[in-house]
Amino acid sequence: MSDFKLETKCLHAGYTPAKGEPCALPICQSTTFKYDTTDEMGQLFDLKAEGYFYTRLQNPTNDAVAAKIAALEGGVAAILTSSGQAANFYAVFNICEAGDHIVAASTIYGGTFNLLGVTFKKLGIDCTFVDTDASAEEISAAFRPNTKVVLAETIANPALVVLDIEKFAKVAHEHNVPLIVDNTFATPVNCRPFEWGADIVTHSTTKYMDGHGVQVGGAIVDSGNFDWEAYGSKYHGLTEPDESYHGVIYTKQFGKKAYIMKATSQLMRDLGSIPSPNNCFLLNIGLETLPLRMERHCSNAQKAAEYLNAHEKVSSVNFAGLPGDKYHDIAKKYLPDGTCGVISFELKGGRDAAVRFMDSLEMINIATHVAASKTMVLHPASHTHRQMNDQQLMEAGVSPGMIRLSIGIEHIDDIIADLSKALEKS
Ligand SMILES: *Cc1c(COP(=O)(O)O)cnc(C)c1O
Repeated sequence: MSDFKLETKCLHAGYTPAKGEPCALPICQSTTFKYDTTDEMGQLFDLKAEGYFYTRLQNPTNDAVAAKIAALEGGVAAILTSSGQAANFYAVFNICEAGDHIVAASTIYGGTFNLLGVTFKKLGIDCTFVDTDASAEEISAAFRPNTKVVLAETIANPALVVLDIEKFAKVAHEHNVPLIVDNTFATPVNCRPFEWGADIVTHSTTKYMDGHGVQVGGAIVDSGNFDWEAYGSKYHGLTEPDESYHGVIYTKQFGKKAYIMKATSQLMRDLGSIPSPNNCFLLNIGLETLPLRMERHCSNAQKAAEYLNAHEKVSSVNFAGLPGDKYHDIAKKYLPDGTCGVISFELKGGRDAAVRFMDSLEMINIATHVAASKTMVLHPASHTHRQMNDQQLMEAGVSPGMIRLSIGIEHIDDIIADLSKALEKS
């Protein structure tokens, strides 16, 4: 299976039916699983045997889809969560506790920005945000002795800043901490951050992976590359006995799968953000066509970005596929086949024109969603980033008049016709 190309893995990884079994991934819509002896189930509770016992911890449908996503990213193990928010929360909280510190790129998704900057603070975990384009030295200066992790996005939502993954990985590793990359917008079709030094990848599977806007979900994938045992008791949750599991030491018992096993056995057990098997089934159907859809999203977005860029009412367009874009060269390196279908742009008429433009669209929906088959539009300053002040908006790369346009897989002529009519009225 590992020799197959990505397109083939999208269809076949994670689930291989035996003779007479269903070709489509079965939905195991069951909370619990049966055993014959008391001891058999006791072994599972001690993590001494592998097997299913309760869906909050593991479920065969969920595990098959997690295995597929791990294969697509080139990781050793993955866990699915009930949302992308839960994925980023777990990914960080699995290795951080009160008294620790995080370094994160300032352009990350508004929800993650709030999670790290506000909610983690309440848990006693501090976060320093750094400019995604800062030099290695500047990023390095944000580290403290208690820094445990670095987090950034391959393509920032919605500023569309493309991450220099190698730069962030190098700084993180110089400080002996792992790099988590949220790869939601690029998807493994366009970029596999592990190939550039990232240690852990997260996803909001709600976006392109699902693709149809029918389930909210998340994923965490571990490359298995970060050596948790190399730094004494720094990552003691992984390298020292877990008394809540009869003294199991995750790195000893699970090797390269330690990080994901800990997330499953501690965080899922205690916090419980499990996706439903039915949602995982839907996600799996989305994954089967991901490469086809990404290709169309990217080619449509390229044409729409070129159209907008040439329009007299448009003052600026952010899309790394445009030769003049600030991130064009870096995107060529990390995302040679295309970035994603999301464009952001600004009208010369500013915020008011943006509202008139959006209200004049017919086919294209105003929706909070992004990265789905249907073209959708949003005004970050009044929607997703509403809670931020002007300074924070600027740091996140979001100006008050910015419009986020998520190009779908409709015929490009129909997308451009709708944009054109609305621009006339803006
Ligand atoms: C949407 C999004 C999230 C949050 O995911 P949900 O599934 O909405 O909880 C996190 N990161 C990025 C980059 C996103 O686009």
